[in-house]
Amino acid sequence: MPSQDFFDLIVLGAGSGGLAAAKRAASYGARVAVIEGDRVGGTCVIRGCVPKKLLVYGSLYREHIEASGSFGIDIGNVSVDSKTLLSNVRKEVDRLNSRHTDLLKDAGVELIIGWGSFISQNCVLVRDNLSDNNGRKIFAENILIAVGSQPHKPEVSGAELGWVSDDMFNLETFPENIIVVGGGFIACEFASILNGLGVNVTLIVRGEKLLRGFDEEISSELQERMQKKGIQLLLNQTIRLIEGSVGELTISIDNGIKHNSDGVLFATGRKPLLSHLGLELASIKLESNKIPVDINQATNIKNIFAVGDVTNNINLTPVAIEEGRAFADRIFGSKPRYPDYNNVPRAVFSNPEIATVGLTEKQAIDRYGLNQTEIYRAKFKSMQMAFSRLENRCLLKLVVIKSSQKVVGCHMIGEYSAEIIQMAAIALQMGARKSDFDQTMALHPTIAEEFVTMS
Ligand code: NDP
Repeated sequence: MPSQDFFDLIVLGAGSGGLAAAKRAASYGARVAVIEGDRVGGTCVIRGCVPKKLLVYGSLYREHIEASGSFGIDIGNVSVDSKTLLSNVRKEVDRLNSRHTDLLKDAGVELIIGWGSFISQNCVLVRDNLSDNNGRKIFAENILIAVGSQPHKPEVSGAELGWVSDDMFNLETFPENIIVVGGGFIACEFASILNGLGVNVTLIVRGEKLLRGFDEEISSELQERMQKKGIQLLLNQTIRLIEGSVGELTISIDNGIKHNSDGVLFATGRKPLLSHLGLELASIKLESNKIPVDINQATNIKNIFAVGDVTNNINLTPVAIEEGRAFADRIFGSKPRYPDYNNVPRAVFSNPEIATVGLTEKQAIDRYGLNQTEIYRAKFKSMQMAFSRLENRCLLKLVVIKSSQKVVGCHMIGEYSAEIIQMAAIALQMGARKSDFDQTMALHPTIAEEFVTMS
């Protein structure tokens, strides 16, 4: 067998976690191969965080330009050309895809294009197509599964007529109107993006509020803001049937009312990508449709590891990256370090934007009791929109434990939330107390200063 088919590490998947692990392992001199059947970059770069954020910027430009009249800047009528926006987003994705491919090469990692599946606990078959029977067999001492997750559609008659988030980036133009199903990250983000670009958006949520698990005051504020911006919100409703064809769909929901729409976007969660991996041939155990791992990211097979969404732990890019790097540091760099899952900040790039770190008010009450939970908040109209009819408001909230005065939660809705909360996460990670916030001089006039002037 040719020696080029033997590696110290095979990584399945060139997404955030896989790329990070592969490059870090190679930096210690390991011989590493990454197998990818789709495009290098994975969900985050190709069809997730990055192109989504570019669409968010596009959508916010329109709002800001419209608001500029109230600051005395008249630029006439604003029109949206979503074809140009989508095309430019795709070009940027292409650039990043090449960049990530180059970075792998620079790191000395071998990129093998194709679909990898286990043949045994040390051998992976790489095929051009999943339907092929033959392919290249490669071998490694250690194998890392970093194949991520994919959008999941509910079992609704006609669901095949609906899009998932992946599809949104491949559209030529956005439709005139759309139904978005779901009340989580992706639903709120796409509802806001599309609304900002002038699409008529109806958001259908099966629960009674948006963003389950987020601080309720923050999610209620988002709900109100989205409705004020013209998003039609249907709560406690489930889609039952989709008929017609894209561009002319009829959607039946629980309340019996039929809605006509150009398109339906299912943003109803993601599931680990487990099919076609041949996990059974390597005796890798699954649990609730994910690959369970121990603290070392090891599966039940001691030389096979998994990181990122496929483990369904905390499904965020930075978490996958950190899991991948820590794995490589331990196995190839003799550095026994582990990801710290405390105070993982999260953002929802809705409009307004939400960001949060630590415990919600409810989580703090459940853990420490009502008497031990102190809440500080500031709610005000954003200065940036001071003259605008949009009246965006900011809500900032601190959750503090009474006895220790430790700040255990920091939540925000409003402009620059994600940028602000990233910094607040450092304070929480360092164990900051309310007095540390109070003793920090305000930077005026900013939104973030409210976090250090709350009484
Ligand atoms: P989420 O889990 O955030 O939300 C899924 C939504 O779909 C929930 O509102 C859920 O309702 C609803 N839902 C689930 N099943 C059904 C169904 N059968 N019928 C109707 N509604 C249903 O998933 P997303 O797809 O939005 O995002 C997936 C993950 O990707 C996120 O959890 C996050 O980890 C990551 N992500 C992160 C982003 C960021 O960092 N900004 C951006 C986008 C994604 P219920 O609450 O009742 O279960």
